[in-house]
This record gives sequence, structure tokens and C-alpha cells, in this order.
Amino acid sequence: MTRESKTATNKPAELLDLQEALSLDRAQVKDFHKRYLNAGLATMMELLNFDKMFVRAEGVSVWDNQGREYLDFLGGYGALNLGHNHPKVFAALQQVQALPNILQASLGVLAGALAHNLARITPGKLQRSFFCNSGAEAVEGAIKLARAATNRTGIIHCQGSFHGKTMGALSVTGREKYRKPFAPLLPDCQAVPFGDLDALEKALQPRQAAAFIVEPIQGEGGINVPPPGYLKKARELCKRYGTLFIADEVQTGLGRTGYMFACEAENVEPDIICLAKSLGGGVVPAGAYITTDEIWKKAYGGMEKALLHTSTFGGNTVACAAALATIQVIYEENLVEQAREKGAYFLTRLKELQERFPLLKEVRGRGLMIGLEFNQPGSLASKVTFGLAGKLAEEYTGSLVAGELLNNYGIITAYTLNNPNVIRLEPPLCVTRDQIDRVVAALEDILQRHRSFMSMATSGVKTILKSLTQRE
Ligand code: PLP
Repeated sequence: MTRESKTATNKPAELLDLQEALSLDRAQVKDFHKRYLNAGLATMMELLNFDKMFVRAEGVSVWDNQGREYLDFLGGYGALNLGHNHPKVFAALQQVQALPNILQASLGVLAGALAHNLARITPGKLQRSFFCNSGAEAVEGAIKLARAATNRTGIIHCQGSFHGKTMGALSVTGREKYRKPFAPLLPDCQAVPFGDLDALEKALQPRQAAAFIVEPIQGEGGINVPPPGYLKKARELCKRYGTLFIADEVQTGLGRTGYMFACEAENVEPDIICLAKSLGGGVVPAGAYITTDEIWKKAYGGMEKALLHTSTFGGNTVACAAALATIQVIYEENLVEQAREKGAYFLTRLKELQERFPLLKEVRGRGLMIGLEFNQPGSLASKVTFGLAGKLAEEYTGSLVAGELLNNYGIITAYTLNNPNVIRLEPPLCVTRDQIDRVVAALEDILQRHRSFMSMATSGVKTILKSLTQRE
């Protein structure tokens, strides 16, 4: 498109309407991504043969343009607790389509109702909500709230944590690769090892930390479950030193771990809880933090401070309708219990595989938040593998397994962002035992065929070569 046509007042002829956009073929979609979006990501997806054209989605299933069905065990990184395209969420959106969606001149009716419901379902004295649009934004809001409420600046977080990629959230995210290009980040942020109470107490002792932010189970760090009692004790320590306890339940929340909120496993009552992902029912972006009346008032009480932290889209009618429907569906379909039962069954079956196949180093998780960690290649394997195969095996066995699952078995999974040797299994909470059995059988088959890293890496290279030569 020429600069002239871009600035012309009448519609440029090259613009696509929705119907034309929906009719693009796979090659055109790829081309647009490479030209107008993240070219490196597009190439990576292509190399792993992860760039299928999906045209329909319902519940746990998605279908590609060849009519092949896939099981989605990635579940939008925890954003699809209800499954794809839940009809009750769409019905809710239809119900509000005539209402003003964004009208700052009045108090949103649905925002009030959603905040009421969140106050009812969240633990302890959590009562006041702030609505935003994503997990990172919820974390930003929580950090600001903690600073304003305590008049302290420090934030303690955990190594291996993931809280998002905006500047504040990134400052408390424990992966150097994501942080380095953007330094300096927020000052006074300190990382402590996840699960280490002594290190936490040491960091709290100077009484300068506004908050300790923690995921009850680390998601992107590799589905890391802390030692029993850790969260409870960490919460107590925070209270002792005047530091607010922020539970980042963006990924663990809303039933995922077999509890409505993962911190309930240890009866922990956080000072602030962050939610997003599944809050919008897998359809609409929605995020929130919820805190106590007391903390809220310290930070934002009174008219003077009422506009200190706001968001244009936060609390819009559509997002709130989706979130209200989501909470209703979670109860109606017993999704919390389902996650607990199916998760226990899944974990047991996967642990049986772990006992039989040394390539599978560990199976861990709670509810339907499960990670599979693969063994690193031994020194011999590193010596004899070379080039692409060796590199892939060292860093990306997780994605090689995910590639096999996708291309040969029609099962969608992915590795965790901070730990590429772990693949995560986070299917919609309505997943059936049959679907779980299909995944276990596929994994068994893969592990049977690739007893070593070398074979896995070689097959990964083959997949890559295949995708490079299979141009449409
Ligand atoms: N917090 C946690 C625990 C997450 O897992 C994520 C995303 O994976 C985020 C925050 C950031 O959420 P978003 O990608 O919506 O900004």
C-alpha cells in the first residue's frame, strides 16, 4: 500500500473487509504475519509445523481446514477453563448487545454486579475490585496498590516467576531473557527462590517491601508446586513484617487447580489477588485485582484519589457480562470438582508413564495444571548430537514432544515460557476421561518410539525439514 493511498480520505481499494479476511488462505495468513506482525514468531511456528489453519472450535476440540479434529490440551495457557466458545458466554454477550458498552459518564451496572460476585467467591476479606483487560495489567495495578497503601517501594518476587511483560510486571518476572533488553526495570525489586521461606524472611526483615507477589503454583516457570505449607507460612511472614501478600492467580484461578483459587489449598487469604485469563470466559479480555476494603482505602480512598489508577476499557459491559456468565458456568458445571477429579486421574496415569520411561523426568501439578519435565541429554548425547539436533535436544525437548503430539496425534500442547523443557497440560476443565486417555496413549507411543533424546531431536529436525519443504 502506498503512503498516498494510506492518507487518502476515501477508503483505499486494498483494504480487506471482514468477509475477505475470513477467506484468506493459509499462505496469505502467513505472509501477512511475516510482513505486518511478528515475523520471527511466524517463522518459529512454521518450523515446528505449528501453523495450521484452524477454522472451528468447541469445548476441548478445534478443527483445521482439512476437517481434522484436534484436542486442545494447552487451553489458552489457562484462559480456556470453560473450553472454546462456551454457548452461555456468547448468550450473555447477546443479552447485553443493546446496552452501552463503554460510557464513562455513568457507573457500569454489570461492573458492580461482577465486583459483588467476586467479593463473594474470593477468600477472606477480599472485597474491592479493580477491572482491567489482562494479567499483566492486573499485576501492574496490584504493584501500584501495594506501594500506595504501604508507602513502601520494595517488591519481593520469586525466581522463575512469570507475572507478565509490561514494565512493572516484567520487573517481578524471574526470567533474565525477557528482562535484559529492557533494563533498567523498576527499582527495589528483589527475587527469592520459590519455596524458600528463610530467603523470604530475610528479604522481608528490613521492612521495606510493599508486597510479596507469588503464583500459588508457578505456571510459566514449569508448573512448579511449592512445598506443602509454603504459602501459608509465607502469608504469615508477610503479615509479621507489614508486607502485602499478592497471590497472582491469573493462571491458577477460577477452578484450574481443583480449587476455585489455588491459594485455598492452604486456606491462605491474600491481601490482593490477581485474575485474568479465564475471567472473560475464553472469549473477551478481562482482568481484575481484588483487595480488602482497608487496603483499598489506604491507597485510593476518597474523591481526591479516585482517579489515581484507571483503565478505559476496564469494567466494560461486554467483559463484565462474559465474566458473570463464566462464574455461573463454573458453578453450574461443577468445573472445580471436575478439575480436581480429572486432574487426579490424569496425574496418576502420567506418573505410571514416568516410572516406565526415563526420558520423562518428572510429572507434577495439581488439578488440571500439569507439567511434564523431560531429562536433559547426558554428556555423551551432547557430544554425538550436533548442529540443529543437538541444540533442539538441549533446550527444546518439550517443544519437540509438543510438535509430535500436534502433528502425529492431533493434540495441542506447548512448553512453558520460562522452562522450555517442560510441557504443560492445561485442557478445558470439562475434558473427559476418554480425551485424557487419548493423550496418555499418545505420550506412551512417543516415549516408546523415542527412548533417547537423540532420536527425539532427530525426529524434530525431520519435522522441521518436512515443514520447510512442504510449502503450499
Ligand atoms: N500472571 C501469570 C501467573 C501468568 O501466567 C500470566 C500469563 O501467562 C500473566 C500474569 C500475564 O498475563 P497476560 O498475558 O494476560 O498479560
